[in-house]
Amino acid sequence: MIPPIANNFVAGTSVAAALDRAATNNKNGVNTILNLLGEHHGDPEKATEDTEAYCALVEDISESDVNACISVKPSQIGQEISADQFETNLSRIVETADSHDVFVWVDMEDSETTDVTLDAYERLAREHNGGVGICLQANLKRTRNDLERLSDVPGKVRLVKGAYDEPESVAFKNKSRVDEAYRTLLEDAFEQRDGGIAVGSHDPEMIEYAKTLHQEYGTPYEIQMLMGVREDAQQNLAAEGVDVYQYVPYGSRWIQYFYRRVRERKENALFALRAVVGV
Ligand code: FAD
Repeated sequence: MIPPIANNFVAGTSVAAALDRAATNNKNGVNTILNLLGEHHGDPEKATEDTEAYCALVEDISESDVNACISVKPSQIGQEISADQFETNLSRIVETADSHDVFVWVDMEDSETTDVTLDAYERLAREHNGGVGICLQANLKRTRNDLERLSDVPGKVRLVKGAYDEPESVAFKNKSRVDEAYRTLLEDAFEQRDGGIAVGSHDPEMIEYAKTLHQEYGTPYEIQMLMGVREDAQQNLAAEGVDVYQYVPYGSRWIQYFYRRVRERKENALFALRAVVGV
């Protein structure tokens, strides 16, 4: 059981709770990206277990009447064990999802994993002619080249600012420099890609900029935000006709994710504190 304060950011521990959340989002005009919580599995059995859980989830989504896709962390399905194990497990998930018409996102973790993640992604995206998307991080200096590499690869690209603390040799450390890189990458994406751009940000400035670029280039795009963050904005954007996706985590490993959300923003910490002391 998840305590009510964590329920703001995590749908619940079960698939049923995750699908319920997706159904509620659908009623509000918002699509859902389901993420089974878990990362850094060094044990092949755990990586296989989560791979199988994703395959079962895809079947459950296709049997339900909700509109949802999934997002998978590479280290959850064997990337820390070996590149082969990761690619085999990801390929299993993508094949199952493809046969059920469910889209698969691949999250991006720290910069030491970028090459292995991109290589596996590119092979699968070409093999499945899309149906799969990848996250790129604006704080990494390499990302402009990575975006260019993916310009003729079918599939979608989710652009985020980057959540990992990276060394200065590979990443921009200053927030305004990361914001500047994000804007430039958005421009490149709208200019280079025929579609399949996801703006993974809560930042009102970046969202407005994406709308402007869409008007200029006509390239289709979607906005992605996390469950529990700016949900009013998510619904307002959806009401304006923008394609909005909410990233919805679920599963038994919710504590670490919940504390990450609380730590990253003063408002979230105050909200959690108020819920505990009852004011
Ligand atoms: P920030 O730069 O943190 O904030 C900019 C502005 O946005 C703020 O001034 C405020 O106006 C608004 N804002 C931001 N957060 C809040 C809030 N909690 N409440 C109210 N307003 C807020 N990172 C990865 O490294 N790999 C991934 O695979 C990945 N996947 C992601 C998927 C999704 C759908 C999303 C939304 C994010 C993902 N991230 C991922 C995280 C991302 O890299 C950022 O760390 C995170 O989104 C914070 O950056 P931001 O652009 O949202 O806004």
